[in-house]
Amino acid sequence: MIARDLPSGVEQLGDMIAQAASIVPFTGAGISTECGIPDFRSPGGLWTRNRPIPFDEFVSSPAARGEAWRRRFAMEPTFAAAKPGRGHRALASLYRAGKIPAIITQNIDNLHQMSGFKADDVVELHGNTTYARCIGCGQAYDLVWVKAHFERSGGAPDCTVCDQPVKTATISFGQSMPEEAMRRATELAQHCDLFLAIGSSLVVWPAAGFPMMAKNCGARLVIINNEPTEQDEVADLVIRHDIGETLGPFVGN
Ligand code: NAD
Repeated sequence: MIARDLPSGVEQLGDMIAQAASIVPFTGAGISTECGIPDFRSPGGLWTRNRPIPFDEFVSSPAARGEAWRRRFAMEPTFAAAKPGRGHRALASLYRAGKIPAIITQNIDNLHQMSGFKADDVVELHGNTTYARCIGCGQAYDLVWVKAHFERSGGAPDCTVCDQPVKTATISFGQSMPEEAMRRATELAQHCDLFLAIGSSLVVWPAAGFPMMAKNCGARLVIINNEPTEQDEVADLVIRHDIGETLGPFVGN
């Protein structure tokens, strides 16, 4: 059911939150747009500016690796300046109140951790862009180290342990999904009684399968997104409004 307007959507959401024992949020890029980080698909979003670099191209082409890192450094002022928004803060309040056991996110921006979620309670399906990892042995690297190498040599660094390429700790198109994060997200989706899909166009799979999985396991499903999604018709409540406006009333509860 689509909420008639924002106030009635917020009221219905409040009732559902009050009735729920275990709420699992699933967030996408839309929760972070008010923090200054563009999403992928909105006008002006990242895809309208840059074609994504698939994983196999990153691995096989030093030029693609250089381009990937140049883009990442170009985004650094944006990521570094971003602070949790009203959506992040509202979810952190519900987490502190014991209503949310853990959160599933497609985001790579670290803002849920910054809003107060313990790192262990943020299930990152697409990784995290605030640090880097070797794609071979998984050794973690600080972005400051990567940038210094880049500036010194003009190219992307390889791992000091095993010589494989170093990449932001994110999942690119064509890269396999992190097994442990998928396992935990499945468990969370199957055992909640309220699932909140927030700020995702729900077109990136397999992540987009979690709302339906929760619904099929008996949870109520709420979708908060300012444009329609393909899963709206199965949701118990659709709030087609701004996320900050919708979740703002739940900050501090
Ligand atoms: P998406 O860009 O496909 O969809 C975002 C959705 O949020 C869109 O439908 C848009 O209309 C909506 N939206 C944007 N701002 C909103 C607002 N203020 N209120 C309500 N709705 C709003 O994002 P996705 O579904 O998360 O998939 C894209 C992939 O891109 C993800 O896998 C993610 O890893 C990655 N990504 C992450 C970030 C980030 O970490 N902040 C940013 C860009 C892309």
